[in-house]
Amino acid sequence: MNPDSARAEIVIDLAAIRHNLRLLASRAAASGAATMAVVKADGYGHGALPVAKAAVEAGATWLGACSLAEALALREAGVTARLFSWLDLPDVDFAPGIEAGVDVSASSARELGRIAEAAQRAGATARVHLKIDTGLSRNGCPAYAWPALVKAAAAEPGVEVVAVWSHLACADEPGHPSIDAQAKRFQAAYEIAREAGLNPLRHLANSAATLTRPDLHFDVVRPGIAMYGLNPVQQQEDLRPAMTFRSSVVLTKRIDAGESVSYGHTWTAERPTNLALVPAGYADGVPRTLSGRMDVWLGGQRRPIAGRVCMDQLVVDCGDDEPAVGDEVILFGAGRQGEPTAREWADTIGTIDYEIVTGMYRPRVRRRYVGEA
Ligand SMILES: *Cc1c(COP(=O)(O)O)cnc(C)c1O
Repeated sequence: MNPDSARAEIVIDLAAIRHNLRLLASRAAASGAATMAVVKADGYGHGALPVAKAAVEAGATWLGACSLAEALALREAGVTARLFSWLDLPDVDFAPGIEAGVDVSASSARELGRIAEAAQRAGATARVHLKIDTGLSRNGCPAYAWPALVKAAAAEPGVEVVAVWSHLACADEPGHPSIDAQAKRFQAAYEIAREAGLNPLRHLANSAATLTRPDLHFDVVRPGIAMYGLNPVQQQEDLRPAMTFRSSVVLTKRIDAGESVSYGHTWTAERPTNLALVPAGYADGVPRTLSGRMDVWLGGQRRPIAGRVCMDQLVVDCGDDEPAVGDEVILFGAGRQGEPTAREWADTIGTIDYEIVTGMYRPRVRRRYVGEA
């Protein structure tokens, strides 16, 4: 390690992203659907632009972003694929997005009105996806306001209705009755749009539905988490986690039996032991709640974190083995060697792996890419 090297780094395997996207896109293609790779929240912490490029190389024809800001950043970086932005603020100016050919979403007449006004100013047609709330009760137009929204959209000259879309609440629990109930409401909303003279595409499926519900693929699927190699369902799939979080040993020492480690002295050596200091802490994305509850991969095996995770560092108990300064430490990875995974972290602290990887964007943690095409 040279003085400029990172204390800790995230390594993103773009070959894994491409592999996962190809798997998802082939499932979609089998039912005639295109694939929208979801790269919101900086690509779930993996870096939106490199992921977007890898996804397009592997067959994605659409990219999904949370906001116009996210979508425009990709457009400005040279991404030419279809871009879709779905959750913009009430005061956003849609005009730059419309000019850049970004598809936008409307969940209300107010939002549609603002899009139409921006389209007029931009002198261009806005490509709009109308969102129906089929039961998630989050964004999306409630069923009682849907016929009016559809009618207004159909009558708006500056608006091209590209799609009708919705989002599932429990797709990661295959067989959950809400899935079919939402699909039914989705179909009803689509029929109302058709009756209003529209001929929109349809999209509903996230990763879980892409993997388990081919009947709900419709025209486009919107996988996110599975493209990053994290499987949202129990069913076995050949997905490869793309993110590895690694650091290295910066100091070693031997302590006597009875000596305690880190703040609060929550861990005490039962016998003389060798410790390895790792310069990664909760400021770098290691949850403090993993203190004393997680291993790292060091020197070809798992070894426990001793005592509390600090802001900048943590300590690993190596027993009688002798770690060396500079030895690689894997905090989490794909799990192939036996190292902890983002899923194991999530299960241990009571969250989901989405939150673990998405929370890994830290200014102090370097992001490095491998597996470029
Ligand atoms: C995040 C998101 C997705 C992707 O969900 P995954 O579970 O990560 O596949 C799809 N659609 C919408 C609207 C989303 O917000």
